[in-house]
Amino acid sequence: KTFEDLGIIPSLCEATANLGYKHPTPIQEQSIPQALQGKDIIGLAETGSGKTAAFVLPILQALMEKPQSLFGLVLAPTRELAYQISQQVEALGSLINVKCAVLVGGMDMVAQAIALGKKPHVVVATPGRLLDHLENTKGFSLKYLKYLVMDEADRLLDLDFGPILDKILKVLPRENRHTYLFSATMSSKVESLQRASLRNPIRVSI
Ligand code: AMP
Repeated sequence: KTFEDLGIIPSLCEATANLGYKHPTPIQEQSIPQALQGKDIIGLAETGSGKTAAFVLPILQALMEKPQSLFGLVLAPTRELAYQISQQVEALGSLINVKCAVLVGGMDMVAQAIALGKKPHVVVATPGRLLDHLENTKGFSLKYLKYLVMDEADRLLDLDFGPILDKILKVLPRENRHTYLFSATMSSKVESLQRASLRNPIRVSI
């Protein structure tokens, strides 16, 4: 199969080819067609499976259909992972000029607030710093968000981000929002986060 077979548009197929992706990985093959149908997704997959492109490509494709700022939010447990995800957003979105901002702890709040002021399409964040901006950065709101991803949800919860995630979820729209949750493992904590945030999700696992 090719990315085109999965329903990916030419400009994004070209970006995958430029990155040297010849064929979709199994997690991509299972989740992309469902995501393009507008389904919420629970993906059981580890790092190295190609899970990042599995959630980034459908978000970028939806963004192309109806462009807006603050369209997608990806929550990740660590700074390193957040930067890796943002690199893939930029690489896969390079032909469609996608703007991405990274909000992680330990970095300058003001510089991040300026980046938010430039109206990025996608924000990749660690939960604590995102909440900090939601509470303190004037004019920043996610009330028109269309896509939420919680990546490595098991690690997010192991790091005790649960209460912060609850606060973030409270200020995100529920209607017209699609949600993807990726996790290497399933636990009762992950299940309850899933119940609180996804609607009739499709489960994919590899
Ligand atoms: P991830 O599991 O998302 O961390 O991705 C692991 C690595 O696989 C990253 O370096 C990606 O750039 C790469 N990758 C993702 N999708 C594909 C693909 N379809 N073919 C080849 N490499 C890929």
